[in-house]
Amino acid sequence: MTDNTVQGTIFKALSGFYYVSADGREYECRARGKFRKDGMTPLVGDRVIIQTDGGSKGTVTGLLERKNAFVRPPIANIDYMVIIISAVIPVADTYLVDRLTAIARKNNCDCILCINKCDMDAGDSLYETYSAAGFKTLRVSAQTGQGVDELYNAIAGAHCAFTGNSGVGKSSILNAMCPELELKTADVSSKLGRGRHTTRHVEMFTMPNGAMIADTPGFSAFDTEQAGVILKDELADTFIEFEPYIGSCRYTNCSHTSERGCAVLKALSEGKIQPSRHNSYVRMYEQAKQINRWD
Ligand code: GDP
Ligand code: ZN
Repeated sequence: MTDNTVQGTIFKALSGFYYVSADGREYECRARGKFRKDGMTPLVGDRVIIQTDGGSKGTVTGLLERKNAFVRPPIANIDYMVIIISAVIPVADTYLVDRLTAIARKNNCDCILCINKCDMDAGDSLYETYSAAGFKTLRVSAQTGQGVDELYNAIAGAHCAFTGNSGVGKSSILNAMCPELELKTADVSSKLGRGRHTTRHVEMFTMPNGAMIADTPGFSAFDTEQAGVILKDELADTFIEFEPYIGSCRYTNCSHTSERGCAVLKALSEGKIQPSRHNSYVRMYEQAKQINRWD
């Protein structure tokens, strides 16, 4: 490596520029033409090699191997999808949550389930469902500070995408963990203007504990893209709690929806798999069947 070659992480992409943090400094970079030729677009979250000009500008010359990459929002190397839900308004739609956990799993990304507004409702049923399924599940209140430190410690040094319905308290939780962010919450400003008149760029904020947080919009962002579609044959593998049972069904091509001798259905009947999770699975399976037919 020459003196001016450094490794860093893209934390912002805007108007053809990549902003890279490396060695505690920030560099404004262009990507080398070869990336376009290879069809590789650097993404926010990518670990890259840059050639600096000796000052604060540089060129992205290399892309390190990715752990994962999402299409929308366009971000890479996400360690945790932090899914914020609540038992009060907006009440969590478990089907949406389960689609998110499946998409995360498919992309080799862990989930942290964060039940916010616990000062109003402790969300016992959500807690039971997601902790029993094997997810790290935290009870949080941005208002009282309950669980905020636990979340902060859980994500130290990791790349995270926070997702959840508008109004669930994403901004409030991020501000509670890191007041320097000064994100606008519903209390401070009407959300209507946000993102509507401004061009949305992708950016990750670095917290004092080294966590990098992608500023992502609501649930639909991860949910609607074709790239997020999971084929029916790979669906069961995206439900982490099915894992001990898969392979033990009577039929090798078991869909785990209605077959006799299905080990997943047996686990469901024994209370080892949560009914709402299996319901979501069946719904997603029916959808996945349609998609296969159209293809
Ligand atoms: P976002 O749209 O997900 O970013 O949600 P906000 O952070 O803007 O919060 C939406 C509303 O919920 C605001 O009025 C917050 O004050 C309120 N809120 C957020 N967290 C909590 C909480 O833990 N408890 C209670 N009672 N209200 C909360
Ligand atoms: Zn089965």
